[in-house]
Amino acid sequence: MRSKYLEPTLKYDAELCTGCGMCSTVCPHGVFAQNDGTAQLVRPADCMECGACALNCPVSAITVDSGTGCATAQMIAALRRTKEPTCDCGCC
Ligand code: SF4
Ligand code: SF4
Repeated sequence: MRSKYLEPTLKYDAELCTGCGMCSTVCPHGVFAQNDGTAQLVRPADCMECGACALNCPVSAITVDSGTGCATAQMIAALRRTKEPTCDCGCC
């Protein structure tokens, strides 16, 4: 079950979007979708603030306070005792 953030920090400026599709490709929760040549926020409440979309947007149309990053990755890193966390879903 996904956590719903009460105050999401995800911000998207559609004026800057070139429609490259990277945000919808990398988002593990389907927050973005492509429509008519630009990205659209279709499931903003599902954002878990991993930061992958902002990192991969070539025109900085997306900002998000990623905080500690992907919670799943942090738990996996702790269990595996690795320094480069990843949840293996492509978000980080
Ligand atoms: S921060 Fe992560 S979960 Fe939120 S929209 Fe971007 S890629 Fe998706
Ligand atoms: S990654 Fe950036 S430029 Fe590409 S579709 Fe998403 S918001 Fe638009």
